[in-house]
Amino acid sequence: MATIFTKIANGEIPSYRVADDERHYAFLDINPVAPGHVLVIPRTEEDYIFNLSEDDYDKLWAFARRVAVAMKKAIPCKRVAVAVLGMEVPHTHIHLVPINNEGDMNFRAPKLSLPTEEMQQIADAIAAEFI
Ligand code: 5GP
Repeated sequence: MATIFTKIANGEIPSYRVADDERHYAFLDINPVAPGHVLVIPRTEEDYIFNLSEDDYDKLWAFARRVAVAMKKAIPCKRVAVAVLGMEVPHTHIHLVPINNEGDMNFRAPKLSLPTEEMQQIADAIAAEFI
């Protein structure tokens, strides 16, 4: 059975898309730890990132880098931070989070729930900067 992230990448479940190519998909986390929190996934279904083939692994990080560069341009922040957890969804994903200090990336803090219009505006702003 397809993972929830495969269904998102295939458009079967709606998401706020920020970038994609034939091997990857990037979209806003539905409950961000900070505004502009993005998830980057390979279309390949693999739970654990370090089980990806070397080629898939390298290409995933290269794609994530392009997304992070776009995020930095689109969202006022000191830098874009990275985390790989995978405690909830068994489909490899890289968290990219715009931060101004360490506290902006606290996965134990209550998650945000932003209005639809704000989520769409953030996604569009990142998408517009993606090269
Ligand atoms: P992890 O597996 O790395 O612990 O966390 C999974 C992340 O995926 C969480 O930050 C959660 O908010 C996000 N997430 C879970 N289900 C969905 C979903 O259906 N759509 C989106 N956009 N994000 C999701």
